[in-house]
Amino acid sequence: MSYRSPIADILFSLKAVAGLPELMESRLEGDFDWETISSVVTEAGRFATEEIAPLNRSGDIAGARYENGIVTTPPGFADVYRRWAEAGWGGVSAPPEFGGMGLPHLVNVACTEIWNGASMAFALCPLLTEGAIGALNSFGSPELLNAYLQPMISGRWTGTMNLTEPQAGSDLSAVKTRAERAPDGTYRLFGQKIFITYGEHDMAENIVHFVLARLPDAPPGTRGISLFLAPKYLANPDGSPGERNDLRCGGIEHKLGIHASPTCVMLYGENEGAKAWLVGEENRGLAAMFLMMNAARLAVGTQGVAIGDRAYQQALAFARERRQGRSRRQSGPDMSPIIEHPDVQRMLMTMKATVHAARGICHLTAASLDLAIHGRTVEERAEGADRAALLTPIAKAFSTDIGDEAASFGVQVHGGMGFIEETGAAQHLRDSRIASIYEGTNGIQSIDLVQRKLPLNGGETVANEIAGIREIARGVDERGDEAFGGTAARLADAADALEQATRTMRGWVATDPESALAGASQYLRLFGMTLGGACLAKAGLAADAMATSGDRSELARVSLARFFAEKLLPLASGIAQAIASGAAPLKEYEAVLGDTA
Ligand SMILES: Cc1cc2nc3c(=O)[nH]c(=O)nc-3n(C[C@H](O)[C@H](O)[C@H](O)COP(=O)(O)OP(=O)(O)OC[C@H]3O[C@@H](n4cnc5c(N)ncnc54)[C@H](O)[C@@H]3O)c2cc1C
Repeated sequence: MSYRSPIADILFSLKAVAGLPELMESRLEGDFDWETISSVVTEAGRFATEEIAPLNRSGDIAGARYENGIVTTPPGFADVYRRWAEAGWGGVSAPPEFGGMGLPHLVNVACTEIWNGASMAFALCPLLTEGAIGALNSFGSPELLNAYLQPMISGRWTGTMNLTEPQAGSDLSAVKTRAERAPDGTYRLFGQKIFITYGEHDMAENIVHFVLARLPDAPPGTRGISLFLAPKYLANPDGSPGERNDLRCGGIEHKLGIHASPTCVMLYGENEGAKAWLVGEENRGLAAMFLMMNAARLAVGTQGVAIGDRAYQQALAFARERRQGRSRRQSGPDMSPIIEHPDVQRMLMTMKATVHAARGICHLTAASLDLAIHGRTVEERAEGADRAALLTPIAKAFSTDIGDEAASFGVQVHGGMGFIEETGAAQHLRDSRIASIYEGTNGIQSIDLVQRKLPLNGGETVANEIAGIREIARGVDERGDEAFGGTAARLADAADALEQATRTMRGWVATDPESALAGASQYLRLFGMTLGGACLAKAGLAADAMATSGDRSELARVSLARFFAEKLLPLASGIAQAIASGAAPLKEYEAVLGDTA
């Protein structure tokens, strides 16, 4: 089955859920217009569908290869990457003074979904580069900006994020890579990083590594980490790649999925030390790293949406063709297409509804980032930054869980053929699995949500979010159209459950942190489901309003919102109940889990 980028759904969500046209009209600085944005997204969809998507399966089979320090990507990758870069796709929301298009981040997130739906393994290279561009743009010295931004935005040079070491994964305070000051004001790096995505490859003329390391006199823990830029080739005075730096790839991993994306061991300073430049201030690398990671976390959430949608498209096509059994509406002797069985309808509707819900959350997060950057007033920018901070862990963790679940449903809809590699359904499941692990595991996201984000502005940021959900439920209620079924009531119930759980969690953060940690992942799920239900209801209201003015083409969105509200949202109160039991059910874990020795 051939894959098509879901352009119409993405544009609808940008408009109806994120409210991009109104944002541009009344809240964002800058000269953006909807026509340009819609044609950029449409063209990205065409490029991804025609050029990138055909590489997905062949890339999975061929995989990236390592030999003597050289990494070769699968056939076609380097060529398509070159065309992708030449078309300017590396700079969708990058600053125009360095060759970017300067469009809102929402447009970039739309494109990120498009690239990742076509091939997640391919799209990881630009995803990491974009995070690096963001960190450099915010924290780099003028000299670094001049030397590195343009080649990275143009896609000629790619970027990496070097955080992880064998003993430092979720807990980066354990980073050991050593940085030494050189007399000329630069630094030398020594150490080993693992799991570095596109740390070495053959798609670009240079690779710019962003490396977390520790100076000899640095304080212990995360307050002693600095961020450095270390290119594979040192730049010549004319900007071209020159001498090779003292860093290399020591090997690549054999993985469950994303086979075409090289995951590298990187070795720094085996000789005189890898020449590096400080990004930001000494020992203040954490701030720069979080900026890089926040952008990347939203992008990884978008990967969940992308792969979930791809799995859905494939499962839908299969369910229309595959015949088994007789549905109740089948009168003749033939077997029915499996899509006529209510249980298969349930799986497909769940896939579609949850993917659309997750897309809505990612778009709301990106819209908040746009407000934080391009807002017209200080207050608007602060409001955007706070909302983006609250929503980022939800966008990352909820959406990647949904991507995984949708890919798993995709296999289930295919029956036994789903387990057989040649259908491609299994690849989506294998590829999606990493997204809930990297860029901070989903467990770590939920802790961030509960410990750092709920207390924002004394709890006002989260209260505003819940108030917004209630307003949408009221809007559906006031519309009073029976096509929405129980949408308003179920959404209001879920908002009640979320509000109650939020109160409990906020109390626990201060008085019983163990219970807050025990419920954090379930709380994030509850938040994602309720906010996702609100996104679908908002899209349904927009579709309904279009129908009132004569265009009934989007009315299925009302039924999608109703499905989510009636079939999935009732689980919200159950999750709230599970959260309420706190850490008590975990207390006897040693007795329950037994002695594993
Ligand atoms: C394919 C791939 C690509 C990657 N790309 C990059 C990259 O480009 N750059 C980079 O720097 N890294 C990269 N990583 C590393 C990735 O970000 C880490 O694997 C991830 O952050 C988890 O760290 P860990 O593997 O050490 O797991 P651990 O930190 O050991 O975690 C193991 C389990 O314990 C849980 N856990 C750990 N600490 C806590 C806690 N305090 N509270 C509750 N639960 C906890 C985790 O949620 C997880 O379930 C990549 C990894 C892979 C597999």
